[in-house]
Amino acid sequence: MNTRSSYDVAIVGGGIAGCASAYYLARRGLSVALFEKGRIAGEQSGRNWGFVRQQGRDPLEIPMMMACIRIWRGLEAELEADIEWRQGGILYLTEDEAGVAKYEAWLDKARAFQLDSRLLSAREVAKLLPGMARDWDAALYTPSDGQADPVKTTTAFARAAARHGAEIHTGCIVEGIETAGGQATGLRTEAGEVKAGAVLIAAGAWTGPMLRNLGQILPQLRVRSTVLQTTPAPELTGLGVWCDEFGFRQGRDGSFTMGAGDWVDHDIEADSLRHFLAFRPAMKSISRKPDLHLGWPFIRDLVSFVDGPGSLRRRLRRDRVLDPAPEPGKLDHSLGAFHALFPQFKDVKIAKSWAGVIDVTPDEMPVFGEAPGLKGLVIATGFSGHGFGMGPIAGKLMAELIAEGRPSLDLGAFRFTRFSEPRAAAALHSTP
Ligand SMILES: Cc1cc2nc3c(=O)[nH]c(=O)nc-3n(C[C@H](O)[C@H](O)[C@H](O)COP(=O)(O)OP(=O)(O)OC[C@H]3O[C@@H](n4cnc5c(N)ncnc54)[C@H](O)[C@@H]3O)c2cc1C
Repeated sequence: MNTRSSYDVAIVGGGIAGCASAYYLARRGLSVALFEKGRIAGEQSGRNWGFVRQQGRDPLEIPMMMACIRIWRGLEAELEADIEWRQGGILYLTEDEAGVAKYEAWLDKARAFQLDSRLLSAREVAKLLPGMARDWDAALYTPSDGQADPVKTTTAFARAAARHGAEIHTGCIVEGIETAGGQATGLRTEAGEVKAGAVLIAAGAWTGPMLRNLGQILPQLRVRSTVLQTTPAPELTGLGVWCDEFGFRQGRDGSFTMGAGDWVDHDIEADSLRHFLAFRPAMKSISRKPDLHLGWPFIRDLVSFVDGPGSLRRRLRRDRVLDPAPEPGKLDHSLGAFHALFPQFKDVKIAKSWAGVIDVTPDEMPVFGEAPGLKGLVIATGFSGHGFGMGPIAGKLMAELIAEGRPSLDLGAFRFTRFSEPRAAAALHSTP
């Protein structure tokens, strides 16, 4: 399968973080092999809403996202692919004073970065979204935000990486990371061993369990988010629109991709208990708690406990593409809220639906950098529901880190060790 016996860099994961990293590394002339257990963009990177936003970010992420938007603008030319990029802006609607106060507080922090975000009045909102059946108090608006097609973008990165010489292996599970003398030396895949000077783990929701097998504890949990795509409709807007109830964007074919806002599900599993204390402060600050489910994932983890160390390998085989079921109640809720807001689109129906598992960290920020005590083992994960938009800059920064030892933006705030440091709980953020 492999064309060489060793590589400069081996990558675990064919989501946007892994594929973008493969592209930027290969473009620098490094030999790269990427291993994906299922298919490119099979998990989060192909199941998301496609919002690309600077708005509402933790201020620590804003410089990175501003640099990322500059990449997005030229991405179709750079990757030689149609990714349905559209810089139509993002709008967060609010109907109460608390929402307005929250957005004003965020704008106060964001002002230092000279972002084009601003608060719109009810009248300005009505102008941007004509035909709404009700008024909103205000909206947070960032015209330079945008949207793109998740599958097309991630696949375009993988193809561009391959054109620059990277090997992209799909349907190939990485079963373990090889280390020697405190240094990552390669991967153990189901097709054989691979030697590498550096290993990048960009395994999305699987990163925490993989690291645990190396004795590294990363507090990372999974939430399940339900999405639907409607039948095509006449053009309403090029904005990505979000409110407490639901969010949507309209694709080039006229269909709406829609979800139930922040309303997500959490299937309780062993990690829910393992990381309970790390996540407790975050649970206090979020306004909408996930719906909790106690069922098969918990039983599965109890069985794997008895099953021993091979259990992760068995789970990876069973979930080659993590494909959770959408929640019917959330589909009805999203479409119902959309119909109520835009009665002129009452004939729009659900064309397809799906769910995706989102990996989250306690402070809802990603983890970038070397794992403690293991040289050459680099992590890019924990995007907490906004890693699609951040994918291109994540890949560029990981390539700089691995190739030069120093990324062009300071990644200190995203270090792996922050969760075990004494003030970690106090540093939890609550941004809109
Ligand atoms: C419903 C939903 C809506 C979202 N909306 C948005 C949005 O609008 N905007 C936004 O910016 N973000 C959004 N996100 C979040 C975004 O999709 C993710 O943050 C981002 O895609 C994460 O990319 P990733 O490469 O880290 O992980 P993933 O895309 O999950 O990729 C990880 C890959 O690693 C593979 N893998 C794991 N373990 C192994 C192994 N051992 N061997 C081989 N392969 C392995 C997996 O199969 C997977 O393909 C949303 C997510 C979901 C689910």
